[in-house]
Order: sequence, then C-alpha cells, then structure tokens
Amino acid sequence: MRISANGSDVLVVGGGIIGLVTAWRSALHGLSTTLADPDPGGGAARVAAGMLAAVTELHHGEQTLLGLNLASAARYPAFVAELEEASGQETGFRACGTLSVALDSDDRAHLRELHALQQRSGLESEWLSGRECRRLEPMLAPGVRGGLRVDGDHQVDPRRLASALVTACERAGVVLRRERVQRLSVTGGRATGAALRDGTELTAGQVVLAGGSLSGRLAGLPDAVVPPVRPVKGQVLRLTVPPAYAPFLSRTVRAVVRGSHVYLVPRANGELVVGATTEELGWDTTVTAGGVYELLRDAHELVPGITELPLTETGAGLRPASPDNAPLLGPTALPGLHLATGHHRNGVLLTPVTGDVMAHVLTTGELPEPGRPFSAQRFAPAASQEHPPHPSSEDTAPASQEQPV
Ligand SMILES: Cc1cc2nc3c(=O)[nH]c(=O)nc-3n(C[C@H](O)[C@H](O)[C@H](O)COP(=O)(O)OP(=O)(O)OC[C@H]3O[C@@H](n4cnc5c(N)ncnc54)[C@H](O)[C@@H]3O)c2cc1C
Repeated sequence: MRISANGSDVLVVGGGIIGLVTAWRSALHGLSTTLADPDPGGGAARVAAGMLAAVTELHHGEQTLLGLNLASAARYPAFVAELEEASGQETGFRACGTLSVALDSDDRAHLRELHALQQRSGLESEWLSGRECRRLEPMLAPGVRGGLRVDGDHQVDPRRLASALVTACERAGVVLRRERVQRLSVTGGRATGAALRDGTELTAGQVVLAGGSLSGRLAGLPDAVVPPVRPVKGQVLRLTVPPAYAPFLSRTVRAVVRGSHVYLVPRANGELVVGATTEELGWDTTVTAGGVYELLRDAHELVPGITELPLTETGAGLRPASPDNAPLLGPTALPGLHLATGHHRNGVLLTPVTGDVMAHVLTTGELPEPGRPFSAQRFAPAASQEHPPHPSSEDTAPASQEQPV
C-alpha cells in the first residue's frame, strides 16, 4: 500500500457540486485540501435543472429548511460572480424569476394554499389571473387558470456550475485525485484519511464525506455515523429552442398536472430543460419510455408548442435525500469525520451556503448559524451524539410527499 507523502488538512470524499464547493472554500480558508472522485464535476448536477427555487419549493413542515434556502439564494449573485472570476468560466446564472401556474380548479386551490403559506412566511409572490399569466408567457396553454409570479426564484446551469467549481478548485490549489475512495481510514477512534481504489492511502486531519446518494455506502464507516441518505431518481429531458422560436419562454414555468410536478427551465443558450420524475428505485438511472412520455405529456399540456422543438437529450440522476429532505452538515460522532450530503432536491440552490458553512466548520469545529439546525448528528442514536441535535420540531418532520425537483 502506497502512503501519500504529505497528509492534507482536509480530504473531501466526492466531487459533486457539494464536495467541490466544500473543497474550494476550504482551500480559500488556507487549509491544504485534497478531493477524491473518479469523475469530479459529475454526479446529479449533470442532470439537474438548476432552479434556485427557495420560494416556489416551499412545503408545509419545511420552514426551517426555508431559512437555509433563502440564505443560499441571497448569496447566489455574489457567489457566481466570485466563482466566474476565480474560474474564468460562466455559470449560466439567470435572474429570470419563476411562474407557477394552475391548469384546473384543483391545481388552482393547491396554488392558492401555497400562496397563503408564502404570505404567512413573509415571502414575495403575486397572484395572477390566467390572462395575466399568458401576457407574461404567451406560449402557455389557453386553459391556464391562474398562477403565482415569483420574481426572486432564479436559475443557474448546474453543468457549468460544476465545471467552474472544478477549475476554481484547481486554481485554489485543491489536489484532485481522480479515483474512487475504497474505504475510510479510522485510527485510534478518529477518521484519519482514506484508501483509494488504486491502493493509495491518503491521510488528512479532517475528512468530509460528500458522496451524494452513495454517502452511506462507504466502507469503513462505523455503524453509528452511516448517513441516512437514499437515492431519489429523477428523469429529465433537454430540448432546444431554435433561434426562430426565441424567446419561447422568458422565465421558469412550473405546474402540478394531475398530481405530477412538471417544470420548464429556459436557458439563455436556447436549451429548455423539462423535468422531473420522482422515483424511489434505488440506484437505478434508466431512462424509461414511461418517464419520457409523462414529462412530455404534462409539459405539452402546459406549453403545447414544445412538440415543435428538437428533443436533444434524455437523462436520469439521483437526488441524495435525507429523512427530512434537508442536508446533513458538519461533525459526526466520529472525531475527524464531517458530512456534507443529503441536499436532495435543493443541492444546486444550497451550494453557496454549504460552502460557507463547511469552511467555517473545518476552520473552527463549530456549525455557524445558518447551518446549525442541519447537524449531521440529528438522526444519530442518542448514545453516539457528540452534541445533542437542534431542538426544532421542523427538523425531524416526516418527509413531504411532494418532491417536485
Ligand atoms: C432530476 C434532478 C433535478 C434536480 N433539479 C434541481 C434543481 O432544479 N435545483 C436544485 O437546487 N437541485 C436540483 N437537484 C438536486 C441536486 O442536483 C443535488 O442535490 C446535488 O447535485 C447533489 O450534489 P452532491 O455533490 O451532494 O451529490 P452528487 O451530485 O451525487 O455527487 C456525489 C459525488 O460523489 C462521488 N462519490 C460517491 N462515492 C464516492 C467514493 N466512494 N469515492 C469517491 N467519490 C465518490 C460521485 O462520483 C459523485 O461525483 C436535482 C437533482 C436531480 C436528480
């Protein structure tokens, strides 16, 4: 077994957007940082739509998560400016807003409820009639009954975001090891590094597990710190809006059609992302005829003109979901081991705040305020907790049935 010549201050296991932002921010805080992933910049961001939907994604029982989502949304403009400067790459961030629409009276009642919840939560959203919706987005179906205009829910291109993070990491001095981590190393009751699949042993003062939906599968994790993260499959389509059809849609448009959530995210470069299914099928990422059919059927009901557009790509990815749909951040009961995972349907939105929270944890040992309710230990058996979990009842609320992103 080879031993790396120099241990790092921090070893990040997993190079999806969450591992990458953790490594980048850690390096910017002066910590020598290594990140191991066979394919850094891959993961769920290859498939994700990139909606930054703090307001339109609000669900009953998730008000604590709302605070973190809003904190991250507020960071986004400055975060992408810094990342684009550091990487020399664009991220496709668009401050375009979102329109959630209703196609029948049930949908309208559901949206009215969401509007009331948003108002009670102090969020900005405006109720529009069907005609007002179509005035904003003329491609909408004539049957649209009304909608919610949310000017603060924007979008970013997750593939470009991931690519920019890889470059920013490299430029900040993060050592990228393009290899799978085989096993966590634990010595004297402390996480001390990890063994790569090629046999290399990496040592580090602190290890961050950011393996997305695979986070609970890493060998060598003591039972008490295995994160309760499961994969939730989402299928997505990519269409292209030819220049002659532009602007097809000017903002993200979403709806609930016969109980299924569907959204259309128009990018500045003409890409139109249509998503997404929500399926609990383990690590399966097959694109199915049924998934594609349902997405096209529902999107067509919302915006009939999409059938004219070239279908350029289909794909499926895995959201890393925790029991309460919120991330698991910071120290575990195993000294030296931290988690940054479980971001489920909001991982793109939560990238900036996760980077800040994890850098703070890695430099001070403490979770800072926006991350405190999301302690990695909140689901651990009481005996193995280093610190008791945050007392908020919202944190342990059962998972919402609605998982639209
Ligand atoms: C269909 C779909 C649509 C989505 N839409 C949105 C959206 O609109 N807005 C939003 O905010 N979020 C969205 N998301 C969610 C978002 O994409 C995820 O929350 C986020 O990408 C998770 O990032 P991650 O880095 O935690 O995990 P992942 O992206 O899963 O990355 C984990 C990484 O860890 C690596 N890894 C795992 N095990 C090991 C190991 N043993 N050794 C080394 N490396 C390892 C993997 O190779 C992978 O690169 C969507 C997700 C899906 C699937």
